[in-house]
Amino acid sequence: MGGVAGDGSSRSRVVVVGGGVAGAFLAKPLQFVADVVVIDSKEYFEMPWTELRSMVEPSFSGRTLIKHTDYLSNARIITSSAVGITEDQVLTADGDSITFDYLVIATGHAYSTPKSRDRRLEQFEQDSQKIKSSQSILIVGGGPTGVELAGEIAVDYPEKKVTIVHKGSRLLEFLGPKASKKALHWLTSKKVDVLLGQSVDLNSISEADGAYMTSAGEKIAADCHFVCIGKPLGSSWLQNSVLKDCLNEKGRLMVDECFRVRGRSNIFAIGDITDVPEIKEGYIAQKHSAVVSKNLQLLMKGGKESKLVKYKAASATTIVSLGRKEGVGQFPFGTVIGCLPGRIKSKDLFVEKTRKNLGLDS
Ligand SMILES: Cc1cc2nc3c(=O)[nH]c(=O)nc-3n(C[C@H](O)[C@H](O)[C@H](O)COP(=O)(O)OP(=O)(O)OC[C@H]3O[C@@H](n4cnc5c(N)ncnc54)[C@H](O)[C@@H]3O)c2cc1C
Repeated sequence: MGGVAGDGSSRSRVVVVGGGVAGAFLAKPLQFVADVVVIDSKEYFEMPWTELRSMVEPSFSGRTLIKHTDYLSNARIITSSAVGITEDQVLTADGDSITFDYLVIATGHAYSTPKSRDRRLEQFEQDSQKIKSSQSILIVGGGPTGVELAGEIAVDYPEKKVTIVHKGSRLLEFLGPKASKKALHWLTSKKVDVLLGQSVDLNSISEADGAYMTSAGEKIAADCHFVCIGKPLGSSWLQNSVLKDCLNEKGRLMVDECFRVRGRSNIFAIGDITDVPEIKEGYIAQKHSAVVSKNLQLLMKGGKESKLVKYKAASATTIVSLGRKEGVGQFPFGTVIGCLPGRIKSKDLFVEKTRKNLGLDS
């Protein structure tokens, strides 16, 4: 089933589930060559890596939360969670059944963030008030989210006591040990306490007590806490669907080198949800989108499958920001901490570049 284009020709219906980096950067170029429907659980695109800056400086989020309608003028947007798939339809939590010719799954991570952009802006205001009014702050989790939040607070509020409790044996376990060591050294130099190999029972924590007990029996005094343990993959909705056998043991969708879901010719997956063996990064998700955009356009024109573009995973550059000026970066040539990675990422967190790539004013 296809929609009707302005010139009267019939267009294929491409349904994109997920309006994060991968979904947004696919829907944008396809909207004028296909009948595009984007299903996202929220009405806006969010740059996930800017969340921690927005928590200390809520006005920052004005440019990082972008309504889907601001960059998609020719696509249908459905603000609802996808809850299932049949052979040719996506089912939503609000009871819609959307028929597709081609389906692209881009539900990287499941967010519990509000549907409404205004409500999300309010959340950042509340987080910032919580930080401002606390003298001591506990951060549970020492992955990129916990480390970046600790960095933001330590730089903007050097007088506040920040403690990270991390259950792993080193911070930033998705990077090499050198990056972990350098980040730990930087944080301790800013008087952040880092407790490794310990956890805090999330079911029993309450801010009212002002004290938290770790699994090792250490008591941490803190006025408030933030849980930064990483978001679950956005694939639970596929577990009872026709694609259930295409999920690997980690819940990622298995794809071929053209991003087709295993065994499917008209269903693709891109971004963090895929099992492509590489570090999961937004700029890499954009590369996936570019490949699938080309492949869909080829298939829609009746091109041969043998002509599909193939993707090759490459080693990634990753930077974890440490406040506004510094960062720790893992580059192909080595691991660097300080102002060099800071200059690349930490100042504006790729906001201008991302907005520009979405065709918005910088
Ligand atoms: C702290 C931190 C720092 C980072 N720093 C960088 C960096 O410096 N550079 C970089 O390139 N990358 C960075 N990343 C990684 C980057 O954010 C991800 O790789 C990128 O967001 C992946 O994009 P995605 O579209 O695959 O998934 P996501 O961005 O997770 O988007 C998924 C979308 O799907 C929606 N969704 C989920 N489930 C459903 C459903 N059932 N129905 C409908 N919609 C659904 C979600 O609401 C969301 O809009 C960072 C990540 C974090 C957490």
